[in-house]
Amino acid sequence: MAFKTIKRPKISIGERFYLKALLGGLVITMKHLVLSIIGKSRSKKELGGSGIGVTMQYPEYRWDKHLPEYYRGYPVLVKGEDGRERCVSCQLCEFICPARAITIKPGEVPADSQWNKVEKAPVEFEIDMLRCIYCGMCQEACPEQAIFMSQGYLLTPTDKKAGVHNKAKLYELGGTKQGLVNKWNAYK
Ligand code: SF4
Ligand code: SF4
Repeated sequence: MAFKTIKRPKISIGERFYLKALLGGLVITMKHLVLSIIGKSRSKKELGGSGIGVTMQYPEYRWDKHLPEYYRGYPVLVKGEDGRERCVSCQLCEFICPARAITIKPGEVPADSQWNKVEKAPVEFEIDMLRCIYCGMCQEACPEQAIFMSQGYLLTPTDKKAGVHNKAKLYELGGTKQGLVNKWNAYK
């Protein structure tokens, strides 16, 4: 069987010891070191920090203003601009939640309510933030734009009970969302 011998390419000492890559890395490190010493590090420009060092001095400085639009913080419930709670307790979010963090107790909207056309609203709505994995599936599944992933991330429950957000807490965190949900729009 015929075969062809291929000569190995000759590599220099520099290539053998990755000198170019090592020096390149060293230059970048030195650049950040000098910028940090003179108070002009990335933390000054990007985090509003002192410019000395690149470690964010939390909690004096925070990410809040630098969070990308797509950042997923804790989930919250929102009311419409007309004050109606958007949730119709369909329980889709409870069903889809992979961490089983959501518990909903559905109830009827009273017949004399201006929103009786909606028929259902949650009597209680709880999200166990000790179970939640911030996946955003509840937001995806909700047909009423009632549950959203906020940009909030500061949760410091002191016990397990405080780690469960009830309906009042979820609305307090979510507030009002602008924009109509046409399905249940009273003006439709
Ligand atoms: S973000 Fe994910 S884990 Fe958290 S409540 Fe929603 S669906 Fe469940
Ligand atoms: S938050 Fe949305 S998905 Fe969950 S029960 Fe309410 S309307 Fe249904």
